[in-house]
Amino acid sequence: MQQINESILNDEIREHLKENRISHMEYLPGMERISSDLLEQVTSRMDAYDPARYTAGDVRRALAQENRTPEDFAALLSPAAAPFLEEMARKAKEETRKHFGNTVYLFTPLYIANYCENYCIYCGFNCHNKIRRARLNEEEIEKEMRKIAETGLQEILILTGESPSKSDLTYIGEACRIARRYFKVIGLEVYPMNTEDYRYLHGCGADYVTVFQETYHAGKYETLHLAGPKRIFPYRFYAQERALLGGMRGVGFAALLGLADFRKDAFATGIHAWLLQRKFPQAEISFSCPRLRPIINNEKINPQDVHESQLLQVITAYRLFLPYAGITVSTRECARFRDHVMGLAATKISAGVSTGVGSHCEEVEDKGDSQFEISDGRTVAEVWESLTRRGLQPVMSDYLYV
Ligand code: SF4
Repeated sequence: MQQINESILNDEIREHLKENRISHMEYLPGMERISSDLLEQVTSRMDAYDPARYTAGDVRRALAQENRTPEDFAALLSPAAAPFLEEMARKAKEETRKHFGNTVYLFTPLYIANYCENYCIYCGFNCHNKIRRARLNEEEIEKEMRKIAETGLQEILILTGESPSKSDLTYIGEACRIARRYFKVIGLEVYPMNTEDYRYLHGCGADYVTVFQETYHAGKYETLHLAGPKRIFPYRFYAQERALLGGMRGVGFAALLGLADFRKDAFATGIHAWLLQRKFPQAEISFSCPRLRPIINNEKINPQDVHESQLLQVITAYRLFLPYAGITVSTRECARFRDHVMGLAATKISAGVSTGVGSHCEEVEDKGDSQFEISDGRTVAEVWESLTRRGLQPVMSDYLYV
């Protein structure tokens, strides 16, 4: 497993953080507590999960099931399932066809700001990293959205970095209102909020919310998130539940694979989604499957430890456990891998991607640096062409407003 090297912190910052470090398990003032025990349920199942204890027999049994239990999911994520990857992929493809036909949804992320108040040591946007920061104004947001809409896309994912002071609620709400003029589906990947904030953003047009828990291992989480509100592990964990309570139609889950034991993190992600789906049967559930990528000003973050075959195992295990869930594969992965997975288990692909601020439109002057390097820089037309060549049906949106 990759070790994140924390020596990138200089001594001064390290001392300051040590002295001022807050508990990662205690809510800060203003953070809403909801009545839920999902965190205890997920962490106790994850702690009890020992991937090494599963056998080929357990994997065969899991593959033979029609409806798979958490125990089957655990077996499919274990090292014992590696020799069965071919069969997992075949069965995942069958499930995908059953629930989604040959459709694949297209969308693009739009970074409207890259200010961040958190210190996640693996991310290029972290508040101690010296990068070009930017925040688009309403006119610039509209220009970028218009440009993206010209490609034919009807779904957009709005991202801000996590700075409630620079990207406040009304700023994000206004971006949603502008997006509503150009797109049919609007997703948000912004800082976790309280239920009423999600309700407000839903009223502005947002449909779904994605929050990466990064790692479900609270001890590891603490060592990677040194400062800022993101440090508060349980508040982040309950973001999806608050979003659904606030009226959002869908929620997305992800662990950043490579930060900790990826099998346990993938297991916890799946269990989190599964438990929440039982509580909110109407919710549209989806997974993202990011692996760590290199970032600006930290060449030590050069992750290679979750191999492609292991990522494929995670993605197919998600499909076999929750056959109806959406699965997105990030542009962190190369075009060849993304295309391959689209035919098997994934149902959503981003296209025409840039992770910088203001980078879709020449006229936007206030450009901000990118969050991470992308591997698949294909345009919307190129991704469309590649999907149709593989017999898949690209879909811009299947949502109708009445
Ligand atoms: S991972 Fe998110 S919260 Fe952490 S530094 Fe990057 S943008 Fe900010």
